[in-house]
Amino acid sequence: MIIHNVRILGGEPVDIRVADGVVAEVGTGLTGGEVIDGQGAVALPGLVDLHTHLREPGREDAETVLTGTQSAARGGYTAVHAMANTSPVADTAGVVEQVWRLGREYGLCDVHPVGAVTVGLDGRQLAELGAMADSAARVRVFSDDGKCVSDAVLMRRALEYVKAFDGVVAQHAQEPRLTEGAQMNEGVISGRLGLTGWPAVAEEAIIARDCLLAAHVGSRLHVCHVSTAGSVEILRWAKSKGWNITAEVTPHHLLLTDDLVEESPAGAYNPIYKVNPPLRTRADVEALRAALADGTIDVVATDHAPHPVEDKETEWSAAAMGMVGLETALSVVQEAMIDTGLLDWAGVADRMSAAPARIGRLAGQGRPIEPGSPANITLYDPSVRTEVDPSAFASKSRNTPYAGMTLPGRVVATFLRGKPTVLEGKLA
Ligand SMILES: [Zn+2]
Repeated sequence: MIIHNVRILGGEPVDIRVADGVVAEVGTGLTGGEVIDGQGAVALPGLVDLHTHLREPGREDAETVLTGTQSAARGGYTAVHAMANTSPVADTAGVVEQVWRLGREYGLCDVHPVGAVTVGLDGRQLAELGAMADSAARVRVFSDDGKCVSDAVLMRRALEYVKAFDGVVAQHAQEPRLTEGAQMNEGVISGRLGLTGWPAVAEEAIIARDCLLAAHVGSRLHVCHVSTAGSVEILRWAKSKGWNITAEVTPHHLLLTDDLVEESPAGAYNPIYKVNPPLRTRADVEALRAALADGTIDVVATDHAPHPVEDKETEWSAAAMGMVGLETALSVVQEAMIDTGLLDWAGVADRMSAAPARIGRLAGQGRPIEPGSPANITLYDPSVRTEVDPSAFASKSRNTPYAGMTLPGRVVATFLRGKPTVLEGKLA
């Protein structure tokens, strides 16, 4: 198969020959076999998400491994890490193998289950991390995401434990006492709206503690969904020490701010903007963009969090927290980072493919598009602008904050080890 006329990382037009699921040749004027017209699209290594909620088992009304990986493929992803806060919780070898097998069976996108750090995410007892690492799913990323491992002793033990198999603990940094009943970012707007504030310090205090713990035991820490300028400063300091710390930011924290809760096209108090961690201020957004550009933040991760309509379209205080994100991630990153000149396509390939693959220890993902690499490739047309239509999503859920917004770019095709999962923007 030949993928004709694409621009690898936005470079000069070339053709890519794919054979047996591997990039065989990159050059011009290649002929022979089946030809797919790339129409001058930007070719990126298949995107890798470190932070996806697939909801299966337990909340198949919100998402399943099938619909979640269809959504991922449409967003240009060839691998996702599936968070552990399912029902039952992914805290045993049995559950992570079940999720991993479903991903393999559907073959749309590699599914790498994240193992829970504590049994039942209850923060009291370490889960069987070693058994999950040794399972067929070969778990390397562990997280209680949705909840913070707030107990410092448990966090220390988890960091120590994962060293044995080169694992990483991904922390959802949220000091629980400082965020009891918290509804949105603590600031001017929360005061005006009378909603309980979620102070930046609740995130920053945990990140600072965990950086110190990771350094103390010589282990690997990953910080989920960084949302404040102060967190960026702490990470910059910790990285300057040479500590083994990585961090992610979501697309929505790169674009949206807390004033949307007060005033938006969707009206005030619209729970579509309710998310954990909360949308912050313009100054935080600017700091997050700069940190992603300079590498202080390593990765863009979606925190794709599907919820059924009845859990979102309710009053603010009762609504579930979270947004879907897989099918809009690349467009939002283009808007926030490419069109602003903060990153080029090589930078996007690093933050959305190479770096997350490295953190998750995925050998076959995040590789440059060159002979010998698995043919995991995303073709993206940055030249179009389209209105986001949630009814067109492959995801089972529609809780996107971008409905009706015009965003740049479109995923044209996705290839998983040479097999098209998306062609002409549609599931293949
Ligand atoms: Zn989280």
